Amino acid sequence: MKVAIIGGGMSGLLTAYRLARNCSVTVYEKQGKLGGLAGGVDDDDGTHGDKYNHCLCCADTEILRVIRELNLSHDLCWRVARQGIVQNNTVVPACRADDLLRFTSLSFTDKIRLAGFFLKNNLRGESGDLDNVPARDWVIQNCGEKVWEYFFEPSLKFKYSVPGNTISAAYLWARIHEKKHGKIAVFAHSSDGLIQGLRQAVEKDRGVFRLGTEVTGLKRQGNRWHVAGGEGETAYDCVVYTGPYSEAIALCPAIPAACPKTALPVEYLSVDCCVLRLDRPLKESYWLFMVLSKGRASRVVIDTAALCDNPLVYIPVYRPAGNKNPSQYELCLRESFEFCERINPQFKLDWVKKHYFFSDTQVEPVFSLNYVRSMRDDPEILPGLFIPELFRERSLLKTFNSAAIKSRIIAAKIQAKYAGNHSNRR
Ligand SMILES: Cc1cc2nc3c(=O)[nH]c(=O)nc-3n(C[C@H](O)[C@H](O)[C@H](O)COP(=O)(O)OP(=O)(O)OC[C@H]3O[C@@H](n4cnc5c(N)ncnc54)[C@H](O)[C@@H]3O)c2cc1C
Repeated sequence: MKVAIIGGGMSGLLTAYRLARNCSVTVYEKQGKLGGLAGGVDDDDGTHGDKYNHCLCCADTEILRVIRELNLSHDLCWRVARQGIVQNNTVVPACRADDLLRFTSLSFTDKIRLAGFFLKNNLRGESGDLDNVPARDWVIQNCGEKVWEYFFEPSLKFKYSVPGNTISAAYLWARIHEKKHGKIAVFAHSSDGLIQGLRQAVEKDRGVFRLGTEVTGLKRQGNRWHVAGGEGETAYDCVVYTGPYSEAIALCPAIPAACPKTALPVEYLSVDCCVLRLDRPLKESYWLFMVLSKGRASRVVIDTAALCDNPLVYIPVYRPAGNKNPSQYELCLRESFEFCERINPQFKLDWVKKHYFFSDTQVEPVFSLNYVRSMRDDPEILPGLFIPELFRERSLLKTFNSAAIKSRIIAAKIQAKYAGNHSNRR
């Protein structure tokens, strides 16, 4: 039973990990190294850093189980998550319900409505019919205009740079429902430990990694899939494609006809991220600051000094994919420095020991109206072809945990349908 996995990011690695024991697995990765969005940078001093900050919360049980299986739990750094919102250049904590009281832009009634809204949605188990309801209408109906304007609109603008009347309320529900409160964890030495742990487990089961090999074509002949990449074509019984759907169509033109429901154009976000390695924490230690500024997209800064004794500041900016600004590096850097100064007027440039800039396109699909409805309940697009991105999973968010859930379901289906019902301890 031969399985090709296209993509050596977290989804591809987790699928390979779950399948390698019972199948012959080959992972194709076009980059020279594994990790995809979860990858990072190796510094001259031997330290590793993530490109983008990754944290896990207690509800991420699926990925936490994999981390335990790999004996990597010691690599996680758990702390109470302190979140802050910058209001009038001051950081206001936004961790507990009573922190809302300090939020001066909202009236007492607004705060009560907002607290009730959070409570109600934490209890609501499914996004249900929210898919074709605009996020804006949903919030205004439940909490009023002010809460939308000061609380939700800036964060959606930060993420999507599009008006809230095109973003699905189902997405907002998923974010609220995702319990990031309480304790959260970051990897003490970057996600690289997890990436290498998965790689070693797959190699132990004789899985093969073809790094620096881009898959350029995918076609079905008879009962098998022919994967073109590197020096030719190889035939497999099953293929798992973990890249963006828009690129899957280019690789295999048969896909849209086979699943017209999902053949909608999918918009993507790209991300630019400035990472500053400081020689001290920024101000008060927060895991995440959200800055609300009228007329501008809000910004998020994640100061990991709140979690580890490693003063790394991540300043990610999401942009619509394809909106490439040639001077984006300088722009992002300048904005990031100005931003740090605004939050902490004592901030000096010489606090920055090193800075990095990372950029990726097609980072996350945009959860516009009816997006969720176009997703599938079954990950198998054509016989033997699996695309996790199109497969609807309860949390709706693209995270390590949802990658772990989807890979488990896909691996179970491949084992049951194509490899026979072998026992599988993963
Ligand atoms: C700023 C930011 C913050 C985030 N924070 C969190 C967080 O706190 N917690 C969390 O759980 N998640 C977080 N995420 C999301 C997390 O990074 C992603 O969900 C996860 O890394 C996605 O993995 P993936 O394998 O699905 O996709 P990717 O990482 O995109 O991997 C796809 C891989 O496929 C390869 N590929 C594509 N096409 C081909 C081809 N034709 N041939 C060969 N290879 C190919 C690509 O090179 C890539 O390596 C964050 C993401 C960002 C951008």
